[in-house]
Amino acid sequence: MATLEIKGLHVEIEGKEILKGVDLTINTNEIHAIMGPNGTGKSTLAQAIMGHPRYEITSGSVTLDGEDVLEMEVDERANAGLFLAMQYPSEVAGVTNADFLRSAINAKREEGDEIPLMGFIRELDAKMDTLEMHEDMATRYLNEGFSGGEKKRNEILQLMMLKPKFAILDEIDSGLDIDALRIVSKGVNEMRGENFGCLIITHYQRLLDYITPDHVHVMMQGKVVKSGGPELAQKLEAEGYDWLHQELGIEA
Ligand code: ADP
Ligand code: MG
Ligand code: MG
Repeated sequence: MATLEIKGLHVEIEGKEILKGVDLTINTNEIHAIMGPNGTGKSTLAQAIMGHPRYEITSGSVTLDGEDVLEMEVDERANAGLFLAMQYPSEVAGVTNADFLRSAINAKREEGDEIPLMGFIRELDAKMDTLEMHEDMATRYLNEGFSGGEKKRNEILQLMMLKPKFAILDEIDSGLDIDALRIVSKGVNEMRGENFGCLIITHYQRLLDYITPDHVHVMMQGKVVKSGGPELAQKLEAEGYDWLHQELGIEA
């Protein structure tokens, strides 16, 4: 089992405090969802964990099996087993999707232990099948001219091929129609298991109809203010956030 532990995380953007002490522990074999109104710092949390330079960590810690993630360079975080959907450049001229994936996989492996080409192609084919992706997606240049839905599917393909210990998926549902949502969810569900933990950030409950989380957290004003099981997401969908504002005694 691996553990990603976030403790007392405070983060500023351009001098403004956005995260005000986030605590969250995710183990492999668990899927956590973070919900919350717009502008409460959900994406800030994802970006800070992955080391986006704009986000300044003023206190707190993020560790992966006790290793200090915040001390790592961005590529070291990926090598340590963290994956952030959207971490990759939007377009890479002259690099095909398959080439990009193969070098990303090999970057995580020891020299001399590169993934065999045939094995790679077989696995890529199988996963593209699962995600109902057209086979020419492998030979197209990375993200060049990909539609919004194709980009999201491709991110899940990257996830399935790279097999990180932990993935942070920030609004992978935004802009997806119901078929694409179902397919993307199928990919994430296929990753479920003892070597994989996931943090799903979503504004809507809809995604959680397809990927049932083990734990649901609500973030408001830069903190995790409530945690529960899948029923918490359903309650938020049905009743909104007002009851929670009242329960917590905070202004909306
Ligand atoms: P969420 O993902 O929950 O909608 P964000 O983490 O994107 O929230 O944003 C939290 C707050 O930080 C918002 O008030 C937003 O305006 C501010 N913010 C986010 N990114 C930046 C940025 N790059 N520069 C300045 N302010 C930002
Ligand atoms: Mg937002
Ligand atoms: Mg966001």
